[in-house]
Amino acid sequence: MNIHEHQGKEILKSFGVAIQEGIVANTSDEAVSAAKKLTEETGTQWWVVKAQIHAGGRGKGGGVKLAKSLEEVKEKSGEIIGMQLVTPQTGAAGKKVHKVLVAQDVYYPGPSETSEFYMSVLLNRQSGRNIIMYSTEGGMDIEEVAEKTPELIYKEEVDPKTGLLPFQARKIAFNLGLSGTAFKEMTRFVTSLYKAYDTIDAALFEINPVLKTSDDKIIAVDSKVDLDENALYRHPDYAAMRDVREEDQTEVEAGEYNLNYVKLDGNVGCMVNGAGLAMATMDIIKLAGGDPANFLDVGGTANAARVEQAFRIILKDPNVKAILVNIFGGIVRCDRVAQGIVDAYKSIGEIPVPIIVRLQGTNAEEAKKIIDDSGLKVYSAILLKEAADLVAEVLKK
Ligand code: GDP
Ligand code: MN
Repeated sequence: MNIHEHQGKEILKSFGVAIQEGIVANTSDEAVSAAKKLTEETGTQWWVVKAQIHAGGRGKGGGVKLAKSLEEVKEKSGEIIGMQLVTPQTGAAGKKVHKVLVAQDVYYPGPSETSEFYMSVLLNRQSGRNIIMYSTEGGMDIEEVAEKTPELIYKEEVDPKTGLLPFQARKIAFNLGLSGTAFKEMTRFVTSLYKAYDTIDAALFEINPVLKTSDDKIIAVDSKVDLDENALYRHPDYAAMRDVREEDQTEVEAGEYNLNYVKLDGNVGCMVNGAGLAMATMDIIKLAGGDPANFLDVGGTANAARVEQAFRIILKDPNVKAILVNIFGGIVRCDRVAQGIVDAYKSIGEIPVPIIVRLQGTNAEEAKKIIDDSGLKVYSAILLKEAADLVAEVLKK
């Protein structure tokens, strides 16, 4: 689960990680009050107004702006709040900005007096260990750094038995070219950052940039924090940070019915039980010349109500030209599922696109008969190959 920059920073701060301080505002008037308050608390003379959306690259899209007076805070927050912000990560449609973070300016007396670093913490699935990835090339697109100058990206792997050791934190500060106060600050920064990552069950931290200020403080200017959803039950206060406005609305609705749905860009909707079979089905659709419109795992209990809900969700996508239902009847019997499909079809009324149903497993033959006898515009198949050919055929029509 992704959270906003300001929420991520709040969490980091609670672990002693130094951050660029800020206050959230929902309107330009609130932004001005926030700016005044920040100046009382931090003494800052300038402010940065930062759009709060779940996507990076906001600066490039005009979602991060420096304000040198309260009038400018009002003006710039007014521009950003309510805008449809397009960044390299949002797609062409962009994302609506509901709130901004008014933050202290930390690039004093000017950006040339500061250094920007990149730092992330994540799991290396190959070794099964957490790694800290960091680079002297902060503030820019890390993918670009990885491509052009991969030697400037360092990795430090952490042994779960010992946790991050002091020499490792020192090595990181050294590789970043730091000395004196900044060196000490960086070892502290890294140590508390790792502690936070480990404690809160995070899936990813990405802090870009980590800033060395002109007076040798090391602070998190940005924060991308991704929390492991499977562990959220252990952190109800973090679970409450979810902002469903940032998520795909159909995915949110599917979640309410416990359907694992991920929207994609293709034209063939798929309804499958089991994640592995769902992946295989998407491959089959590709082989047949189509393009999956979604990933949808209806889970182990594919009863009529769930099947109906799944159809409704798939049909919300106007790109869908055909639906492939691919269910393996193990514990659930195929004839039950077939009946569920027929019932769902009748309950929804006319479904405007052809449906290809492939049921395999217990009572598959009976299931095929139920579908074939239903008189509905549903094509049935038993073999996956047959189903794929049917998809190809209906797409041609
Ligand atoms: P992102 O574009 O979504 O990654 O947002 P960031 O939080 O990383 O901010 C983007 C850029 O805004 C940074 O790389 C800085 O160049 C700039 N920026 C952020 N905070 C400040 C600040 O306090 N002062 C100044 N002058 N620039 C800032
Ligand atoms: Mn950033």
